[in-house]
Amino acid sequence: MKRHGKSSKQVRTRKKSAGRSAAKAERARSGHSGATGKKKERVKIGIVAIQGDFAAHAAMLQGLGAETVEVRTVKDLEGCDGIVLPGGESTTQLQFLQEEGLSDAIRTFSRQGGAVFGTCAGAILLATEVRNPAQESLGLLDMTVLRNGYGRQLASDVFFEPSTLKKDPLEMVFIRGPIIEDLGKDIAVLARHDGKPALVEKGNVLAATFHPELTDDPTVHEHFLQMAAKGAAKAATAR
Ligand code: GLN
Repeated sequence: MKRHGKSSKQVRTRKKSAGRSAAKAERARSGHSGATGKKKERVKIGIVAIQGDFAAHAAMLQGLGAETVEVRTVKDLEGCDGIVLPGGESTTQLQFLQEEGLSDAIRTFSRQGGAVFGTCAGAILLATEVRNPAQESLGLLDMTVLRNGYGRQLASDVFFEPSTLKKDPLEMVFIRGPIIEDLGKDIAVLARHDGKPALVEKGNVLAATFHPELTDDPTVHEHFLQMAAKGAAKAATAR
């Protein structure tokens, strides 16, 4: 769990590198070059904040220029363009989401075009089938995941693997992550680890079995903000 012990210095470094990408994300988000000078509202991302590493997602997304809000009730989701389901303990998170009516609210949010991003435990919550042990889930991505697929304690480590998102390898921090065993045919694989899909997406739903929020690399969050911005643009056109 090397990366969990990040110092504030490391976090500052990440914010700086995320800041450099902010202009790029902003242009992507608003769908036109900054040269037009037209000021648009910022993309707003809700982050499920029950337990786990939600603060790391918030820091990364704010560094990219997004507005973030902690989500603990259905009302917190109002006005969000995207939602993040962070890492942590999927059983605990699932129970809370169900008790609060948030599982249904997130399903509806996704159906209406809101972008959804699950990391590690969050990816488990998005799957249609969960094993080891079996548990219920939101069923937003057609995949079967094996919880603690790399082992419970020892299989937490950092790897660099190619992805479709950038030229350089992507840093992947695994912490008791799941393995995606089966994937629906229409789901795109953006990166793999050990030959298994590790970053996958379909439409407005993105899932990572690792923790991009615990690295200095904003690539995956930038991609998610672009997905959220697309949904927001569509919703604005439909209005
Ligand atoms: N092992 C956890 C679970 O099954 C996920 C771990 C994580 O999110 N880092 O819920």
